[in-house]
Amino acid sequence: MPELPEVENVALALRAHLTGRKLTGLKVGYPGILGQSVAATRRAIVGCTIDGVHRHGKYIIINFTDGRQPDSHLMIHLRMTGQIFILDDYIADKHVHLTFDFDGLTVHYRDIRKFGRLQLVDHAVHPSIIAHVGPDMLEVRFKVWHGRISHRRAPMKALLLDQGIAAGLGNIYVDESLFLAGVHPLAKPQDLSKEKLHDVWRLAKRVLRNSIKHGGTTFMDFKNFHGKPGNFRRKLRVYGRAGEGCSVCGCEIESLRVAGRSSCFCPECQVI
Ligand SMILES: [Zn+2]
Repeated sequence: MPELPEVENVALALRAHLTGRKLTGLKVGYPGILGQSVAATRRAIVGCTIDGVHRHGKYIIINFTDGRQPDSHLMIHLRMTGQIFILDDYIADKHVHLTFDFDGLTVHYRDIRKFGRLQLVDHAVHPSIIAHVGPDMLEVRFKVWHGRISHRRAPMKALLLDQGIAAGLGNIYVDESLFLAGVHPLAKPQDLSKEKLHDVWRLAKRVLRNSIKHGGTTFMDFKNFHGKPGNFRRKLRVYGRAGEGCSVCGCEIESLRVAGRSSCFCPECQVI
């Protein structure tokens, strides 16, 4: 599943390649990906120029303008297997559901499981439809984040995954952040000092930034804008490594289920 770093890379690429370009056509293979009718989508964005690309948590919001009507805002959530890319020599397969023609550039939306959504929303940023989503994890200040988490009585693993507290951390990056901070996935905020919570906050941001720098983590389905896999996977310390030796202490990485998700951790390094 694409997480914040993958989505950030898609947003960066969209911003770099599409800003100032005019959408001249939209081909739709599977209308279910759209949150509104094909006609309404075309009416809102075809003929318009992209003048901004934003990301909040795992949502991407693209601003379209034609200089006359109010701007249109298209919100994209890739969900499980959504991919957006341009490839010059790309031959669309049956999983490509949308093709956007810009002047001189073609962008494909591919989605094997078809859970992704492209929806027109009213506002450019913080649309009401994502009101239940907390501040972006890369943006949130410690004081705000601490205030949202310190009184909660759930395991840290569950709280970091909770998009209502802060948006953007998924299973991979939560496991990595807790490992770097030396915090057990079942630890509760009350078990941790403020300094330790600060470590978790700081290291979660660092893990996200490092992953963005390396193009995200590629598992089965994620590819970046140009169809190249991200390479952050090689840097993962615990995620997907149950049964292997810890890179710090050599102890065997273990796995347990917290909040319905598998959690990989080192029983020696993550004692609190
Ligand atoms: Zn260890």
